[in-house]
Amino acid sequence: MMFANVIIDISHEKLDRPFGYIVPKRLEDVISVGSFVRVPFGVGNREISGFVIEITDKSDYPVEKMKEIYSVSRDKEIVTSRLIELAHFIKTEYGSTMNRALKTVIPVKDKIKHVERKTIVLNIEGDEIGDTMASYRKKRANARLRLLEELKEVKMLPKSIVTDKLNITPGTLKSMMEEGVIRVVSETEYRNPVNIEEQEEYDIVLNSQQRQVADSIKESMGAVYSGEDVDTKDRVHLIHGITGSGKTEVYIDLIEGAINNGKQAIVLIPEIALTYQTVKRFTRKFKDKVSIINSKLSKGERYDQFERAKKGEVSVMIGPRSALFTPFSNLGLIIIDEEHEGSYKSDSVPKYNAREVAEHIAITTGSVLVLGSATPSLDSYYKAMNGEYSLHKLTGREKGNLADVHVVDLRDELHQGNKSIFSFKLQKLIAERLERKEQIMLFINRRGYAGFVSCRECGSVMKCPHCDVSLKAHNNGKLICHYCGYEVKTPRLCPKCGSKYIAGFGTGTQKVEMAIKKLFPTARVLRMDMDTTSKKGGHEEILSAFSNGDADILVGTQMIVKGHDFPNVTLVGVLAADMSLYASDYRASERTFQLLTQAAGRAGRGSKKGDVVIQTYNPDNYSIVYSKEQNYESFYSEEIAYRKLMLYPPVAHMTAILITSKDTSLLNEAVEILCGRIKCLKNEQNEKMLAIIGPADAGIARINDVYRKVIYLKHFDNNVLIQIKDNLEKLIEADRVFENVNVSFDFTPQGNY
Ligand code: ADP
Ligand code: ZN
Ligand code: ZN
Repeated sequence: MMFANVIIDISHEKLDRPFGYIVPKRLEDVISVGSFVRVPFGVGNREISGFVIEITDKSDYPVEKMKEIYSVSRDKEIVTSRLIELAHFIKTEYGSTMNRALKTVIPVKDKIKHVERKTIVLNIEGDEIGDTMASYRKKRANARLRLLEELKEVKMLPKSIVTDKLNITPGTLKSMMEEGVIRVVSETEYRNPVNIEEQEEYDIVLNSQQRQVADSIKESMGAVYSGEDVDTKDRVHLIHGITGSGKTEVYIDLIEGAINNGKQAIVLIPEIALTYQTVKRFTRKFKDKVSIINSKLSKGERYDQFERAKKGEVSVMIGPRSALFTPFSNLGLIIIDEEHEGSYKSDSVPKYNAREVAEHIAITTGSVLVLGSATPSLDSYYKAMNGEYSLHKLTGREKGNLADVHVVDLRDELHQGNKSIFSFKLQKLIAERLERKEQIMLFINRRGYAGFVSCRECGSVMKCPHCDVSLKAHNNGKLICHYCGYEVKTPRLCPKCGSKYIAGFGTGTQKVEMAIKKLFPTARVLRMDMDTTSKKGGHEEILSAFSNGDADILVGTQMIVKGHDFPNVTLVGVLAADMSLYASDYRASERTFQLLTQAAGRAGRGSKKGDVVIQTYNPDNYSIVYSKEQNYESFYSEEIAYRKLMLYPPVAHMTAILITSKDTSLLNEAVEILCGRIKCLKNEQNEKMLAIIGPADAGIARINDVYRKVIYLKHFDNNVLIQIKDNLEKLIEADRVFENVNVSFDFTPQGNY
């Protein structure tokens, strides 16, 4: 006998396991792992869809108690089944329960109030209308007469108008319904969160470089849509285009191509703050076919957007990584803008990577994936270099010129007696811009902010001798490496130059704002950070105020750097460019290069010339040198050499296992069990290439009284890491220690724990 283990659409049930079914003889030839099936479920044998994850000839249950599969669906377009398959993929690749993966992918349906829209419709025609009106006149039924006179012309009216504007009472409506003169039609009204006023027609014509890129991708779209046998080079395209090169216009052209083929598109953006400006550009072209989905919408609004997408009311969905799960019935294109951004990686379980998941969706739906960035992630560029992705370049700017970039050595400033957080150069340029009524953006690189310790005299940073990452200061007076656990007492004097100006450092946005007000008392300053943007619409308020010229200077964290387009900004200051360099993880240089290049891209987008001032203690660091030159290729070669040497992603694969518990002795026991099993697997399977790093305390070793430890695994083959994860997941399920210890997996972690 043949059995199938089936994951069913249980997004509203509480069970998290596959269910065993008997495969009837007639279906044995057509069923396989990955088939979508219809099965009986529950006491009433309600028929629902499911997804086969395993075919076997053994059953754990008594056969007489098992039910038979009804049918195997050949229709791969069933949206729900597609999403169940996706949840299963995410669970397998990233580690999670099936239920949690389903909840990530399929929005929860409970407790959502629908808005009902009621319409009053005329139910009689021809002579009947005149007769009825005559009879109303005779009866002096003035209210009924009034409504009928209106309906005679327009045939139907929204109920709200009938009751509010025509003052018709519910009683009147009821009697007219009983007479059969009218009927009430109600339908669910889906809220539309996009609220853009009238706009000019879209009139942009692609320049020749943009045209070439768009046409080449469209050629792939043609091949993929016609069901030809294609490889990933046709499915995945990376557009490396400098800031302001017009990537968005290319996206718009591609989406038009997809829509002309009867397909829909998903556009991922890295930051909610970018929603307004992105939507504005897309609605100019696609009008009311555009919708958004993000966490600032209410649960009901979010649910409604998915319903609108299912019904085909919407063709373009814009949002953060979760927009990937839009249930379009005929998806044709996925665009990930600013694909290098860390926000495309989920930081809660399942810790999925939107780019990888998008690639999977592209394969299962027959869509094309387009990644765009001025500073592509090393991961994507590496794949493009290896011929896995197609690579396209945009090298020119339609509007404005690249800014002049000045690198200021902060050590020199200190020697010249400048203790302010603004270099002399930056002060001079700020004064000049204020004079000319042009705008300024000041950006503090806050990632990796506090914690690392550096010398203000020579700029050297305390680093781990084994790992090439900076050490983090702990309250117990020690510096600790979060990769290998190495620790050392915090020195009083700089080990390099003997200076006593050695300290952890950090400058907050508020401090910058205060410093500006002291130096330039008349300047109007806006601040954008976690504090000022937490409420709904907070981002938009600040950005549109700045865009309207209500302020001269915008001070902010990295959220002001991403993608914004302010033509009047002619000066960008990066106050402490180094900060992200010392974040203790292998992506520190990549992140620094990206942030600085993106920041530089904000200046001079209008007709006026722009300047960028980068303040740093490391003017010779390659990520700073190459970002000054806006030289991505050179940065890439230097950085990839380092990754090769250290066997970091994308050259090798890496998984972080985070183990947490309130009880330190349970935590230690759990860590020991896991490490023991990993070492066993390494030996048994002769995995000489498996590197085990740690266990060590996590970067933040305790959060809310929960203690955290971390183990890193590295291997060239991601499948080996997935197998280890599967093995550990089984162990975790079986061993009681893990009832009070939480374990989560993070494949290709973006930072460290
Ligand atoms: P990117 O996304 O690459 O940073 P954008 O798409 O935002 O660049 O383009 C920068 C500016 O140039 C935008 O104001 C855009 O409308 C304009 N632009 C881009 N391509 C063209 C074009 N072919 N014709 C006219 N304006 C263009
Ligand atoms: Zn020093
Ligand atoms: Zn170390």
